[in-house]
Amino acid sequence: MLASRFRPLTMSIASPTPRAIVIGGGPAGLMAAEVLAAGGVQVDLYDAMASSGRKFLLAGKGGMNITHAEPYEAFASRYGARRAEVERWLAAFTPQQVREWIHDLGIDTFVGSSGRVFPADMKAAPLLRAWLHRLRELGVRFHMRHRWTGWRDGQLVFATPEGEILSQAGAVVLALGGASWARLGSDGAWAPWLAGRKVDVAPLVPMNCGFDADWSEYFSSRHAGAPLTTVALGLADAQGGVAFRKGQFVVSGTGIEGSLVYALSGAIRDRIAEDGQATVFIDLLPDHDARRVLDEVMRPRGSRSLSSHLQSRLGVSGVKAGLLRECLGKDDFADPGKLARALKALPLVLKRPRPIDEAISSGGGVRFEALDEKGSGMLRALPGVFVAGEMIDWEAPTGGYLLTACFGSGRAAGQGALDWLRRSDKVKQGTPS
Ligand SMILES: Cc1cc2nc3c(=O)[nH]c(=O)nc-3n(C[C@H](O)[C@H](O)[C@H](O)COP(=O)(O)OP(=O)(O)OC[C@H]3O[C@@H](n4cnc5c(N)ncnc54)[C@H](O)[C@@H]3O)c2cc1C
Repeated sequence: MLASRFRPLTMSIASPTPRAIVIGGGPAGLMAAEVLAAGGVQVDLYDAMASSGRKFLLAGKGGMNITHAEPYEAFASRYGARRAEVERWLAAFTPQQVREWIHDLGIDTFVGSSGRVFPADMKAAPLLRAWLHRLRELGVRFHMRHRWTGWRDGQLVFATPEGEILSQAGAVVLALGGASWARLGSDGAWAPWLAGRKVDVAPLVPMNCGFDADWSEYFSSRHAGAPLTTVALGLADAQGGVAFRKGQFVVSGTGIEGSLVYALSGAIRDRIAEDGQATVFIDLLPDHDARRVLDEVMRPRGSRSLSSHLQSRLGVSGVKAGLLRECLGKDDFADPGKLARALKALPLVLKRPRPIDEAISSGGGVRFEALDEKGSGMLRALPGVFVAGEMIDWEAPTGGYLLTACFGSGRAAGQGALDWLRRSDKVKQGTPS
């Protein structure tokens, strides 16, 4: 239970008034703190958790994918409808500059066969350690276990183990993350607080998430956890055409998840929101053309069962065979033409996204329309307050695009706050007050 003691942070004469406050010690907040501190500002960084960068560290567990080496045009296209806004961040901190920044921290990077860029040991911890060391050297003061709970009388209110404190500064950067993996700190609790201050916030929704297909008990008990390594997945467009994308995904206890599903997750999520469900199509044999598949299905099979025939002629067995049985009616399975078509485009109805807390990232958040036009991340409704990272309403697939945009927006917000302080004549030639 937190004591409700009121203790203004500014009461001690020995401690100078913080000049910029960053709330949120994820990649976006740390980057904003770096820009501000390097610009000669005293930065106080607050985070609700016991240490910074919890989600960043988790991202490192499965092999931290920090950015992508594909050509810029393809890279920028990953941000979809918000490409133009995100490009302002990318222009100031390009994927190549992300890599140089990491190298500057003493960490090597390499480009994987897919073009994804990883730190040399694929881990986040050494990078985070080096980064925090740099920030401390720059004078950033870290205040952990300080949960921001909103404003009171123009001051920021923090709940701490020692009780409540109030604090204020000439500029504030909010980098509070989205709403997935709440146990790592980003719980989206800030959304109503900002909305209450006339900031336009789009509902937070899951992104890079799995979906429920409501499997039968029979299928789920046999195939949950099974990977599909050579498949393609597609969602029909308005004209009924399906653009398939090759990749991998996993059958979960309730539906499907994994990189290929995440890549389509924004579109699938939106389709479910519109229509109540979404039908995706699975190409179980992306390396065989439709003609070859039909020929093999039609080939005389003697006394062999259809299942053994599919296994021996087309390698369809295990979870692929299970999916065919799960998604295709008995009659269609027995019809060679329909079976061959299903092998190349098996319809699977997805009912709902998995809960946002399980998602890799979230969409929604502070709308760009709520920010000033300069691309600094300053809230129109709250001059001097800047936002950065996943809490802004953009989204991207996995592949290093999330972190790259978080870094870029953190830099933009840090620079915006620095310019704001300078304009307000609150930074006197970089000398601490
Ligand atoms: C399993 C997993 C794997 C991932 N892998 C990758 C990957 O390989 N590549 C990639 O690009 N992206 C990856 N991501 C996504 C990436 O980690 C996030 O997009 C990124 O961390 C978001 O950065 P952020 O700074 O905006 O927010 P966060 O990293 O979520 O940080 C927000 C911070 O704000 C703090 N905070 C929140 N509310 C408050 C409050 N009220 N008061 C005080 N502090 C508060 C939180 O404690 C947290 O420290 C992965 C995510 C997950 C979950």
